[in-house]
Amino acid sequence: MDYINDPRFQGLKPFENKIWLSSPTMHGDEQKWVDEAIRTNWVSTVGENINVIEEQVAGIVGRKYALALASGTAALHLAIRLCAEKLYGQPPAGQGSLAGKKVFASNMTFAATVNPICYEGGTPVFIDSEYETWNMDPKALEKAFKKYPDVKLIVMAHLYGSPAKIDAIRKIADRHGALIVEDAAESFGASFQGAQTGSFGDVSILSGNGNKIITGSSGGFLLTDSEEDASRVRKWSTQSREAAPWYQHEEMGYNYRMSNIIAGILRGQLPYLEEHIEQKRQIYRRYKEGLKDLPVTMNPFDEKNSKPNYWLSCMLIDPKAMCRTVRGDKDELWISEQGTSCPGEILAALKSYNAEGRPIWKPMYLQPIYRNQDFVVAVKGQKVLDVGADVFRRGVCLPSDNKMTKEEQEKVIRIVRSCFE
Ligand SMILES: *Cc1c(COP(=O)(O)O)cnc(C)c1O
Repeated sequence: MDYINDPRFQGLKPFENKIWLSSPTMHGDEQKWVDEAIRTNWVSTVGENINVIEEQVAGIVGRKYALALASGTAALHLAIRLCAEKLYGQPPAGQGSLAGKKVFASNMTFAATVNPICYEGGTPVFIDSEYETWNMDPKALEKAFKKYPDVKLIVMAHLYGSPAKIDAIRKIADRHGALIVEDAAESFGASFQGAQTGSFGDVSILSGNGNKIITGSSGGFLLTDSEEDASRVRKWSTQSREAAPWYQHEEMGYNYRMSNIIAGILRGQLPYLEEHIEQKRQIYRRYKEGLKDLPVTMNPFDEKNSKPNYWLSCMLIDPKAMCRTVRGDKDELWISEQGTSCPGEILAALKSYNAEGRPIWKPMYLQPIYRNQDFVVAVKGQKVLDVGADVFRRGVCLPSDNKMTKEEQEKVIRIVRSCFE
């Protein structure tokens, strides 16, 4: 489809420099700490950058310990294993800590939230989202406990930087004696009722992946208030050596520690967290303003209780303004008519103008790999089958790069608006 010569776009020219969804933003201080690590020869998984970043991240989130790990996914794996061993004990080698167990998990999220449940041999049961924050629906969670009263672990995420209804989720978890692993990979710096996301889980995690709000190029953190848990995770992440003259092993080990080089990049980035959030907030605000007379709404958050970090700005097209469209497993078709559009068209138009958007996370229960897992929705017989599939069908993530200028964003807005003409 050629959107460049489409008369609806009135001779708009493509961007010379690509507008990214969300790309790394280096400030220069990163170089200093990386150089320092190299100059002093501390380039391995021990060093000053690691010590400093762990303390600073724990301080910002308000937890006693932050463990610097190789990625958010590694942090989720160890967080899930830690909770599983608390609940079910240490498994024999070769058997996952969740073998034969069910775990409640966010349905609409990145697969990395959920996959580590399976690394440990567990079976996820997916919990639908609600429309107010797009995160795990407490009503669906409550219903899931009725169906599976023995479940003792919940893995939930805060999508796109908007905090979930974590107070309600916590109450339900406590009532059923369940632990929570909180995936705050996308929401570093966001808060709920004044407390940072990452402070609500029994164990929580953050990510320093390249497209997150701040980045170490990679990296992640496991957050806990327990000294014992912190030292266990530190040990597991460095191959589980016992205190012995030789390599002695009593527990399963992993090579999951962060390097002092990555920690140096993160150390340089951390002072810019608030600045990045403010830039992303402005981007969200400008989209909201620039698209307000279109039949769309922005990704929602609880304005009374929460402060998002606005990591990605996404929009949801009103049902009546959706063009006719079908999605297969790997491709999609649409027919654009006046006054309507759809995620496929908007992403294709953005792409032809050299700008990057992204579909909403495709719900886990719709993924071929998870097709046989159970999925719990709050209320049957709604107009839509379930919230996750509906938001996936009608939603789209817009370019949210904090280096995008106001003028560039105005052009992105014009492109989106033209799709509805
Ligand atoms: C990015 C992300 C992760 C994984 O983090 P990595 O550091 O890339 O391993 C996990 N969960 C969610 C919701 C994410 O967006």
